[in-house]
Amino acid sequence: MLYRVEGIVIRSTDYGEGNKIVTLLTSTHGKQGVIVRGARKPKSRFGAAAQLFTCGDFSFYKTGSLGTLNNVEVLEPFRQLRQGLEGPAYAAYACELTDRAVDEEEAGEYIYYQLKACLAALAEGKDPQVVLRVYEMKMSSAAGYMPILTECAGCGRRDVPFRFSPAVGGALCGNCRHRDPYALELDEPVWKLLRLFAALDMRRLGGVELKESSKRQLQFAMRRWMDAHLSLNLKSRGFLDQLERHGEMLGLKQEPGFDTAVRPPETTMRVIDIRRAVR
Ligand SMILES: [Zn+2]
Repeated sequence: MLYRVEGIVIRSTDYGEGNKIVTLLTSTHGKQGVIVRGARKPKSRFGAAAQLFTCGDFSFYKTGSLGTLNNVEVLEPFRQLRQGLEGPAYAAYACELTDRAVDEEEAGEYIYYQLKACLAALAEGKDPQVVLRVYEMKMSSAAGYMPILTECAGCGRRDVPFRFSPAVGGALCGNCRHRDPYALELDEPVWKLLRLFAALDMRRLGGVELKESSKRQLQFAMRRWMDAHLSLNLKSRGFLDQLERHGEMLGLKQEPGFDTAVRPPETTMRVIDIRRAVR
């Protein structure tokens, strides 16, 4: 059967001699694995189409589990994301996160347009420290793990100030603080941003300027959240970490948010199912 779908390449791996297998996140048919024959040969007309984060109209024949590419019309090559080190690293992280966090059944039209908007925002030069944090929230939600942010995840009280506890499920009030000694203290503007990110559609993300300390708190909070609930161990994140450490060595980042060295021992991380925890 011949399929014609709009999709984005979220994974691309070498296959046999000169071929590639790409995973497409599509707008209408979830995730699809497609063989691109000859993609690694110098004169292949499909070479560009088999590259990570290419967005296009893909036509492929499929009888078994894998399709075979027949034709592609590139809609958005995202060339800006292929330059330098950081652009490709941020975009690769968004793709790998999507591939790993989103199951076949959950990969629908909404997720597709969130990823497309995420890549477009990165290509337009919007702050990756904002774009990726919003996207992480979207992917946590898609995987079924949205933090509880407007009331205490322990008892439901709405008394601020809260701390942020990945282990208990989000906001934690003063009465429940004993349930997680490693809960994070976040500035009030950071709480507002987390709530905004939870509600925001990536397609409506404007330009946001944040203090360096807010970015650091957001990054640390989302990382702790995803480590506790999604535990994906992404290869692309390791590379991003190296890039960021390199940036810090060069003095590109001042005004650290707070001590990121304080973290709970892995053994105390209790992974709970937020879907069941939400009342
Ligand atoms: Zn409470």
